[in-house]
Amino acid sequence: MRDLPAVSAAALVTFAGAGPGAADMLTLAVARALAAADVVLHDRLVSPGVLALAGPQARIIETGKQGFGPAMAQGDISALMLAFARAGHAVLRLKSGDPAVFGRLDEEIEALEAAGIGWRILPGITAASAAAAALGASLTRRGRNGELRIVTGHDMAGYAEQDWRALARPGAVAAIYMGRRAARFVQGRLLMHGADPATPVAIVENASRADQRVIAARLGSLVAELAGVDGPAVLMLGLAPRAAEAAVPDLREALR
Ligand code: SAH
Repeated sequence: MRDLPAVSAAALVTFAGAGPGAADMLTLAVARALAAADVVLHDRLVSPGVLALAGPQARIIETGKQGFGPAMAQGDISALMLAFARAGHAVLRLKSGDPAVFGRLDEEIEALEAAGIGWRILPGITAASAAAAALGASLTRRGRNGELRIVTGHDMAGYAEQDWRALARPGAVAAIYMGRRAARFVQGRLLMHGADPATPVAIVENASRADQRVIAARLGSLVAELAGVDGPAVLMLGLAPRAAEAAVPDLREALR
């Protein structure tokens, strides 16, 4: 076994990040783990191009889970993972983006630890990073934001409450995952806490994929702008595509 971080003895289960979609946006370590795996348990958002890197011996099983969305029950996924690992198979638990971002990683690690099964983590490019690249924007900027928030639009209890006052401040930057259906809630909360309706909120759908789409929305028009968006999308509060920012002076003002 190669010397990798966060390895417990004789890792049998590898948690890996498949990146945002494009097959060339995963690390060499993940590509090697895919080639070597006996069993690949993957989330719904993992693209076919990534799964094509699995070896011919691999059993590929979709767990259907996507963030906090409904799918195979978490307990069933853990049970499946445990069953293959106990049988001595090299299991690759492949999640979209980075496994440590809205991936229920801790729950699965706890199930393995309770069973005394080894594991390791191979990180991936999270959607926020791919979205920022699509915008040509920086996630942090001197004088604008020394803090980047990664928030979810909803959790198991429904729409997720956040520190809206902090998010509503001028210059705040946040990547809102699973925010499409929660957009009206997020918009309402931010406006209620004093955010300017002109605040840019770039919508990045299918980041890094061939069908990637970028919409230069503003907070006030966010819900309307999302009408035609049905793929995975991350809402980038406080950011605009660089081209839009350059073309519209008042947008540049709003970004300061
Ligand atoms: N672990 C993943 C996030 C899983 S939660 C990561 O690190 O990226 C699922 C949410 O991620 C989606 O609802 C969407 O908000 C976001 N997402 C995942 N892939 C995306 C992509 N290619 N483009 C835009 N958003 C994406």
